[in-house]
Amino acid sequence: MSWYSHGTRSTNPEFSNRIIDENTQVITDFVDLRKLPEFGILSKQVSDTVHSSSWWDRYGVDWVIHSVAAMCWVASHWLIGSTQPAVHWLGIFVLGCSHYTITFKAAHMLVHDAGCSSKAWNRFWSFISSDVLGCFSADIGYNIHIKCHHPHTNIVGLGDSSTWKAPFLPRYVYMFLAPLLLPALIPLVSIKELIEQEPLWKIVRHVLLSYPGLAFHVYLLMTVSEVTLREALLVIFLSRNVLSIPYIHVNIFQHIGLPMYSQQHRPKKIYQMTTGVLNLPRNIILDYCFGHSIMSCHTEHHLFPRLSDNMCLKVKPLVRRFCLERGLPYHEDTYTSRVAHFLENYNSLMVNAPPITKFVGLQ
Ligand SMILES: [Zn+2]
Repeated sequence: MSWYSHGTRSTNPEFSNRIIDENTQVITDFVDLRKLPEFGILSKQVSDTVHSSSWWDRYGVDWVIHSVAAMCWVASHWLIGSTQPAVHWLGIFVLGCSHYTITFKAAHMLVHDAGCSSKAWNRFWSFISSDVLGCFSADIGYNIHIKCHHPHTNIVGLGDSSTWKAPFLPRYVYMFLAPLLLPALIPLVSIKELIEQEPLWKIVRHVLLSYPGLAFHVYLLMTVSEVTLREALLVIFLSRNVLSIPYIHVNIFQHIGLPMYSQQHRPKKIYQMTTGVLNLPRNIILDYCFGHSIMSCHTEHHLFPRLSDNMCLKVKPLVRRFCLERGLPYHEDTYTSRVAHFLENYNSLMVNAPPITKFVGLQ
């Protein structure tokens, strides 16, 4: 029996027996724990690979990508100042892509302490990439992503991706128009969450980091690119929208539509992550702007969140082989197939509450 009819390549493992209650639609997944592959075995294989890898593999490659992005970010201001329309628009595109590499890819690695071996330096750079350059609080990123999304992946009411849903919006508006509001929404959501979750001093710290950062960017555009204040704000808005549509897409494609577990009946970690996470294919732009851990190695990232993007890519064949050889699901689908699947099944995926799965481990 196929688990998911659309796109994903997995079969119901021999150690799982899923029964659907016709009245409540609750799925009970009886899993034979004696046959369920042990996370410890995979973890040992991955940690052996990490220990035998050089600093270059563990951190260096990603530092080069982030540094090149920072240089492109700066250089884009001269391109934007060009009187030739093609060069001007290329500048906005380069600014947009480098903005995502710094404020999304690098910030994501740093909030996971995966940017370097020092916790303090990860923290320092996460304030620079997230607060100063991205107008988003690194503290809130930590709360939402590290404390909630990762440990509670696909647990209903905790890490079930419901924050990405806007059921009042029609499908095409949600998928292709609403993402264009992201540049304005990101700072607002950050402030709202800070007010709700954090003490005053953290709100003040975020404001003191973010808004001078934004003002400095406007100043750069007005002095280096020689645009007016209004044009500078428009350039920032347009550049931050260069990848806002795929940003929303990958965030919903990764988990929504896969099993969502009840809080009382949580699965073992290896089962939670392999049933509840999907990998997209490699993509020349998104690999460098979002990172492998978000794109083609999302399952690896959820199993080993402290690995850098480059290390996720390195251990991917090992993790994939482990899952497929031992009967665990390993969800993969193409970007276009996911878009079609979400447009076709928008109501069941993005409007209605997801069906709940109860994990029952059999000894
Ligand atoms: Zn993550």
